[in-house]
Amino acid sequence: MREYLQTHPPRFVADIGWRTAFVADRELGADEFAHAFACGCGSTHFRVLGVPVSMSGARPGFVLRSMLRVWNELRASASGDAAAVERLLPPIALECVGCGRRAPLHSQAAPERVGAPLEALRCRPCRRSTFEAWIVCRHAASDLEAPARGGEEDRPDAWRLVVRCRTCGGRAEPYTAELRSSQQARLDRLYGREPTSKGEPSR
Ligand SMILES: [Zn+2]
Ligand SMILES: [Zn+2]
Repeated sequence: MREYLQTHPPRFVADIGWRTAFVADRELGADEFAHAFACGCGSTHFRVLGVPVSMSGARPGFVLRSMLRVWNELRASASGDAAAVERLLPPIALECVGCGRRAPLHSQAAPERVGAPLEALRCRPCRRSTFEAWIVCRHAASDLEAPARGGEEDRPDAWRLVVRCRTCGGRAEPYTAELRSSQQARLDRLYGREPTSKGEPSR
């Protein structure tokens, strides 16, 4: 199962059409699997689009939005917020820097917020917006030593988007989706229940 999950990202990731490759990330837990994105054009650099947490609920015009965002950014750095990027709310999209292709990165756990203005993630230390990106899927409830079973890749307990700034190398996790609690997942497996609902994303 371990080898299977290393070579099979969840279907919602495969559906995007970006090529993915397993990455042996030093920060990975024993039950986590990382798949790095690469566009068909050969580029591995992306703009990451989403709704900044600080902007959720804000629907003013563009100029006001920009000012509000700058204000929130200044407040975050003044308060010593160590995160290299803002947290994002869905819909999350990746846009290839090489060819401009854009694709949504979502799952059942990330309902679309229709009409919400998408903004490009910006690296706080260097103000740039180009990142490498990979997804880390956690399979805490899977028996990783069992024989491979097709479909298991679509049942992670959680997934998170990890980005690394192309300019300064700063690394951050702008979005995490908790799909079900590990305890619930173990119970599901114990009783042979397949999850029908994947729950709500965490903030
Ligand atoms: Zn491309
Ligand atoms: Zn940077």
